[in-house]
Formats: sequence, C-alpha cells, structure tokens
Amino acid sequence: MRITVASGKGGAGKTSVAVSLALAAKEECLLVDCDVEEPNCSLILQASMDKEEAATIPVPQVNENLCAFCKECSKSCRFHAIMILPHKAVVFEKMCHGCGVCSFVCPLDAISEVPREIGKVSWGEGRGVRLIEGRLKIGEAMAPPLIRQVKAKIGHQEPPLVILDAPPGVSCPFVETAKGSHYILFVVEPTPFGYHDFELSSRVVEELGIPWGVVVNKDIKGQADDTLSKIRETCSNRGGSVLAMLPFSLEVAKGYSKGEPMVVADPSLKPVFSEVLEKISGGVQ
Ligand code: SF4
Ligand code: SF4
Repeated sequence: MRITVASGKGGAGKTSVAVSLALAAKEECLLVDCDVEEPNCSLILQASMDKEEAATIPVPQVNENLCAFCKECSKSCRFHAIMILPHKAVVFEKMCHGCGVCSFVCPLDAISEVPREIGKVSWGEGRGVRLIEGRLKIGEAMAPPLIRQVKAKIGHQEPPLVILDAPPGVSCPFVETAKGSHYILFVVEPTPFGYHDFELSSRVVEELGIPWGVVVNKDIKGQADDTLSKIRETCSNRGGSVLAMLPFSLEVAKGYSKGEPMVVADPSLKPVFSEVLEKISGGVQ
C-alpha cells in the first residue's frame, strides 16, 4: 500500500509525521522523499545515503545544418521552450520538460536529444528504515520529472508499505507524488492559515478521487475549537476523516530542534502512529 503524506503549507510537520509513520510501521516499509526541493527525511532519520545517481531529462539539440526553420517544433511546444528565429534555433533548457514532442514533429530529423541533469536520486537507511530520496539541483524548477524518476526506483519488489513524503502545497509536484497512491494523509495545523491551505488542498484531493484523511498536528486543547470544527466539517463534506490529533508538545518541539522524529522525542506517540496506519489499511483493503 502506498500512502502519500502531504500538507497544504510548509511547517505543518509533514516530514516529521511521514518519518514517524515509517518508524511505527509493523511491516516492512520504504520511505520515499519526494519533497525534492527540500528533502529532509534523511536528516531526521540520520540516514547514511550510500548510493546515488544523476537524474536527467532529455532536452532537444537542433542541428542547424539540417533545420529548415519551419517552426513546427516551436509551435508544438506547450512550454514555449524552443524558439526558431529566421536562421537560428534557441532552446530554453530550464523551461524544457523533456517531453520529446519537438523531436517527434520535426519533419527533417534535425533534433536530437541530450541529457540534462536536474538533480540526484539516492538510496540509504537510517534508524532501520529504508529510504529513497530525490534532490533537485539548486535553481532547478523541474520537480515533477525528478519525482517520477524517484518513484520509478521503488521497483517491482515493492514492500507492503510505501510512505511518500510529498512537497508542500497541492500543485503539480504534489499531484505527481500522489499519483498511484492508495491514500493521502494531510498534516494540518489547527490555525486559521493551516485551515485555509487545508481547505484548498481538500478540493484538489477530492478531484483526484483518492481516499484521504487528516492528522491534526500541534493541537492545543481548547484553544482552536473553531478551527477544529471547520476541519471536521470540511472532512465530512469532502469524504475525508480525522484520523488522529497530535497534541502540541514541548518534548516534540525540543526533539525536532535536534532533528529527532516525533516518536523518538516522545515514544508515547508511537501507538498513535501505528493506529493511524491500521485505520488506513482497514479502510483501504
Ligand atoms: S521542426 Fe525541425 S526543421 Fe522545423 S524548425 Fe524545428 S528543428 Fe527545424
Ligand atoms: S522536449 Fe518538449 S518541452 Fe522540451 S522543447 Fe521539446 S516540446 Fe518543448
């Protein structure tokens, strides 16, 4: 089963929850860090990443000796990544998604494809959890192709549980991560900002048609009742459910400042995460 851990906004505790779920799992689990702009699972797991490979996308290279400057390629590129001037072809590599359409439509076979590195995929293990991580190069914007390559490394011998740490927000990188998941777990802070972003996220996830639920993080009893009732209402209106409430905890905050997962900083939380996994697998199977 694949579970994507997501959050409408950064700082809600998504990565900490994803790592804690992996540590609380009773079955073999693989953690996949798809938060490629800022992968932190390896840091929290103190993982040693012992294997790494470059992630590339194929970008076009125009042979101007063969090119007739007909502009078929630039007209077909929906990302405006190739421009044909009267006697020159210009490729904007950082805008190119490597889709291959331009070389496909070129009538003169004037376009070849060359690999361009967009980041790295690495493998490792920490605190007994296996991890695959994607890391985008600084200044690089092509998160979805890298996320696809990270997910492709899960391989055919998939363990019973795969937890994917999604990038914050619900734009293309989140959707790319969540594709193929059996469940999406949102980590939500019971604050007005937290609720606002969660409400937007719930609309996207409803469109995706994947079962989903919420872990409320940093709950201060009695201080966010209005927001909590709004979170519950949104869940029941859009087919989600609240699976757990994690209290605001000084122990967890102190542990987080030292890079410790929640269940290490406060071991009493481990059964809460195990229960979340049981609820999800009970609902999906
Ligand atoms: S489609 Fe081919 S021939 Fe036409 S402008 Fe592009 S590269 Fe040149
Ligand atoms: S590979 Fe796709 S995105 Fe890149 S220039 Fe060609 S058509 Fe555009």
